[in-house]
Amino acid sequence: MSIALEHVSYVYSPGTAYEKQALKDVSFEIEQGQFVGIIGHTGSGKSTLIQHLNGLVKATSGKILYEGQNIYDAGYDMRKLRGQVGLVFQYPEYQLFEVDVLTDVCFGPKNQGLPQEECEKNAREALELVGFPEKYYRHSPFELSGGQKRRAAIAGVLAMKPKVLILDEPTAGLDPKGRDEILDQVQKLHRETGMTVILVSHSMEDVARYVERIIVMNHGEKMYDGTPREVFRHYRELEKVGLAAPQVTYVMHDLREKGFPVSPDATTIGEA
Ligand code: ADP
Repeated sequence: MSIALEHVSYVYSPGTAYEKQALKDVSFEIEQGQFVGIIGHTGSGKSTLIQHLNGLVKATSGKILYEGQNIYDAGYDMRKLRGQVGLVFQYPEYQLFEVDVLTDVCFGPKNQGLPQEECEKNAREALELVGFPEKYYRHSPFELSGGQKRRAAIAGVLAMKPKVLILDEPTAGLDPKGRDEILDQVQKLHRETGMTVILVSHSMEDVARYVERIIVMNHGEKMYDGTPREVFRHYRELEKVGLAAPQVTYVMHDLREKGFPVSPDATTIGEA
């Protein structure tokens, strides 16, 4: 069970004055159950990349393999793929619209054709997974705090029981407390469900503390791919592409606290 890109390139508006190559020959494979961060500066191609993973955007060239099958094959079941690869967009709370939270989270499973009872069961499970308090289930989504809205919106995707959960900048616009709470919750969810989780962020600080693997994007290309330790060895190059030093320094500090052999100037990590 895996999801893979093979030599994927993508060009927006080809042949026009607005032509823009957003992805250049990107390849990688993510195994079922991995917790992966995709990181890069704004415009590096992260959003374009993840929209390929559930078929929303079709590669200009290259292949996407889901469980070994090319999703561009004739007759491939894209609807099923979208059910299995759940994508939570940036600011997903803008898509909340039902009278109360539970009804909103039921929307996806209902759309999949599940009976009411099952929809509600899935919705309750999903809300529990994101740590959404039960006392607000019957509240209007518009009455909630920013962090709770975001949880409800993430639950809306989880209620469809995807095997892969992709979160595009899930901490955008939240205060530091809300940010940590969401990321802690996502980590917990990954541990409890064994689901593949792909966390997209422009912040090394957000990603590195949680994930087991980091894919660094730069100008549409995959720049690095490895464990946080492997990726941080390229500290100086990361700094050059705007993955700011203070954030990396913070992560170094965090790693040092966890017992990794981080050098005193906090810019390199030695071998264990
Ligand atoms: P990121 O998510 O890392 O910020 P994006 O995937 O949104 O990056 O964008 C990658 C590149 O593609 C950027 O240069 C961006 O300006 C361009 N781009 C994104 N969406 C469009 C679009 N709809 N039309 C043309 N260019 C786009």
